[in-house]
Amino acid sequence: MGKDSKTLCKWDKDEIKDNLKELKKIVAEPRYVCKKCGRAAKKEEHLCKPEPLDK
Ligand SMILES: [Zn+2]
Repeated sequence: MGKDSKTLCKWDKDEIKDNLKELKKIVAEPRYVCKKCGRAAKKEEHLCKPEPLDK
């Protein structure tokens, strides 16, 4: 699995720090929340157990 397909859920704190610019894009205007990890993202592909926010 390449870095591009890794879900936000699996980022560790160093990856968050190193990819802060990308992270800001992913979490801007969140449409989905992860039922497992409690993280939010704009696209469901970034989360391991995505659930639409507007439900
Ligand atoms: Zn998750």
